[in-house]
Amino acid sequence: MKNQGVARVVFIAEGKDGKYAISEEAHKVAAKLIDKQHSGLAECRIAYLFKDVKEWESKGKVVLAKTSKAPEQWQYLTDFDFVVIVNKKIWDIAPDKFREALMDHELSHIIKEVDAKGNPKWSIANHDVEEFSGVVLRHGLWKNDLKQFMAAAKKQGQQMSLDDMDSGDQDEKV
Ligand SMILES: [Zn+2]
Repeated sequence: MKNQGVARVVFIAEGKDGKYAISEEAHKVAAKLIDKQHSGLAECRIAYLFKDVKEWESKGKVVLAKTSKAPEQWQYLTDFDFVVIVNKKIWDIAPDKFREALMDHELSHIIKEVDAKGNPKWSIANHDVEEFSGVVLRHGLWKNDLKQFMAAAKKQGQQMSLDDMDSGDQDEKV
């Protein structure tokens, strides 16, 4: 019974004009990250899809990837708890470390809690920081999440410069 759902999802994904396809590449990168730093997700059932369209945008920003929790009935029908959809046009031109950061970001959206019976309960985490660069420019690090974010960026900055992660100058959304 378990594989039936997977087969059905593969069928659905490949049946629609090539817009969606199962992504083994994204799956591989994610599997490594789950081993390394997202071990809580080992038992989470995640489907990885490529979305291949000319422009995938939301509110004027290029969508790099999107993680969604499957509603209960879809978890039942497909055997998946989440779907991570990756922008194939971006993925194809992105260097390995960008791909890794992108999948790390998407996996960070998935949080595991445990219910009273000890069963995993999955939900979507919001970003640590939601802010406008204009506000930071005018008011600096005016709240705690910004300070924590800056501290993390500073710590990481010792190992990696911003240019290392350059992916063009378009606005992006994940
Ligand atoms: Zn995100």
